[in-house]
Amino acid sequence: MDMALDRDWPDIREAVARVCADFPGSYWREKDAAQAYPAEFVAALTDGGWLAALIPEEYGGAGLPLRAAAVVLETIHACGGNAGACHAQMYIMGALLRHGSAAQKARWLPELAAGALALQAFGVTEPTTGSDTTRLTTRAVRDGASYRVTGQKVWTSRALQSDLMLLLARTTPLEDCAKRGDGLSLFLIDLRAARGRGLEIRPLPAMINHSATEVFFDDLVIPADSLVGEEGKGFRYVLDGMNAERILLSAEAVGDARWFLETASAYARERTVFDRPIGANQGIQFPLARACAQTEAADLMARKAAALFDAGQTCGAEANMAKLLTSEAAWAAGEACFQTFGGFAFAREYDVERKWRETRLFQTAPISTNMVLAYIAQHVLDIPRSY
Ligand SMILES: Cc1cc2nc3c(=O)[nH]c(=O)nc-3n(C[C@H](O)[C@H](O)[C@H](O)COP(=O)(O)OP(=O)(O)OC[C@H]3O[C@@H](n4cnc5c(N)ncnc54)[C@H](O)[C@@H]3O)c2cc1C
Repeated sequence: MDMALDRDWPDIREAVARVCADFPGSYWREKDAAQAYPAEFVAALTDGGWLAALIPEEYGGAGLPLRAAAVVLETIHACGGNAGACHAQMYIMGALLRHGSAAQKARWLPELAAGALALQAFGVTEPTTGSDTTRLTTRAVRDGASYRVTGQKVWTSRALQSDLMLLLARTTPLEDCAKRGDGLSLFLIDLRAARGRGLEIRPLPAMINHSATEVFFDDLVIPADSLVGEEGKGFRYVLDGMNAERILLSAEAVGDARWFLETASAYARERTVFDRPIGANQGIQFPLARACAQTEAADLMARKAAALFDAGQTCGAEANMAKLLTSEAAWAAGEACFQTFGGFAFAREYDVERKWRETRLFQTAPISTNMVLAYIAQHVLDIPRSY
């Protein structure tokens, strides 16, 4: 393909593709059918140091830019896998890195970099408040040398596979805050110490194999030094991390789109009906061609967002646009691939239906399309906030 020349970080793409070659479609299908955690895949990525890509070298990580980490995730998805099992290990620690104390960083980052600890869980979403994050109701109340946490999170991915969890909770009642985003705080919780002592994690069966859970806090006592940064500033801290998350997940969507396009093109060349390859019909090739153009354009926006992030510049608009455009490009490519495969798209053995289900997530999480559009309207177009 002509466009292949344009791929950045070719060494990383090659090395990660080699890891992925040991985990073919059959591996992912089995895990999907059993809703089982792809522990072997995560171990292979951890052993290769890939999940420590963003941890600075002084703490034992690779100290790579965000774009390099994005390429790792894109490659996993382009190879037919799914990085949702472990991608958060790359970026959740960013809150600790940017806002944690020297003691917290020295305590946690080297073990995270070595892969000895899993920090894969990030609890923001709650059942009753959803996208309205600043209204979240999980409370953390200071009590001497501790905080007492009560409340509930939903859709907390990988809480059962994680040693540590980053939690966003309210420390000052909303009515006592000057601004909606005030009064929320970030905590790093040691799940190993907390489970069974006021913290319960229940699996949440879902359409895709994403290790989703519900997390219940019932007067969980955590040490006061679990607080990351200053009390009351958690929402601001979370916002800077969200750009990194959106950029990385945009790369996964691009990877999905590339998998769909390659898989569909191969099938369109080979499958013969009415004495001709189905790809010779414009009705088959045009949706693929359109999705290909959409993917390349969306990828450019994702790269622009990553370049701004890596240069330490503001990138909220670009990160949101990248998430919007890549999720839609992946969906267009998935739809075109699904249609190309005809009835065989429904047969599990081709992985098309699995990837199609999986890529649907990007339009909903980590932020849904409407909220991105609302952001663009308000912050880029300067139209009054709609909600
Ligand atoms: C598989 C999976 C994994 C996830 N992992 C995590 C995780 O690890 N940690 C975590 O904290 N969360 C996680 N989430 C949660 C995810 O971030 C939320 O589902 C998402 O942000 C949407 O919130 P909601 O589901 O409460 O939808 P709601 O907020 O109830 O929204 C429902 C619909 O209404 C629309 N809507 C709401 N308000 C407006 C408005 N003002 N204007 C226009 N439209 C509006 C939304 O766009 C959406 O389409 C995960 C979700 C899934 C499905």
